[in-house]
Amino acid sequence: MGLEQKLPGFVTTKLEPAVNWARKYSLFQYPFVTACCGMEYMATACSRYDIARFGAEIPRFSPRQADLLMVVGTINHKLAPFLVTVYEQMAEPKWVIAFGVCASTGGFYDNYATVQGIDKLIPVDVYIPGCPPRPEQVLDGLMLLQQKIQNEPWDKYAYEKRQEEVRQTGREGSRILSPLSAGG
Ligand code: SF4
Repeated sequence: MGLEQKLPGFVTTKLEPAVNWARKYSLFQYPFVTACCGMEYMATACSRYDIARFGAEIPRFSPRQADLLMVVGTINHKLAPFLVTVYEQMAEPKWVIAFGVCASTGGFYDNYATVQGIDKLIPVDVYIPGCPPRPEQVLDGLMLLQQKIQNEPWDKYAYEKRQEEVRQTGREGSRILSPLSAGG
């Protein structure tokens, strides 16, 4: 009210929510698909569920062009270094979804070969349960991530803040454990 009435055709808002709004509706995903959850990933992208309605329909097969890493399926220890490399090649800001119970916790592959959840390797923003999750669950997870992006503070990715984090924690923010030590 007020200013908009005096300046018809103009809309006023704060920069932070406007940028976050643009980010959450223009997600470029990198699908890291390793197993059967990939079928549900494809179903979510196709016309019946149509992930394009949420602004996240464009897969990018170069991590440098993606800002949403979707880890779809089982991750074993041989694969772990490649997942970490893909994550680290993505530019900030970036987000991660663990798609299905295998990516989230290792699922029923409770054995020496399988990473017991990708959060042992990289930070995860949203976990989607299910074996496999239905497309409705995937869309629900995506909307949760969009809510999270909308509420992110403006300076979260500022260089100075990153450096302060490194000073305080002694490590880079992205990598939690080296892939070799994630085996447990
Ligand atoms: S969660 Fe189930 S469907 Fe998905 S990769 Fe694991 S075993 Fe396959």
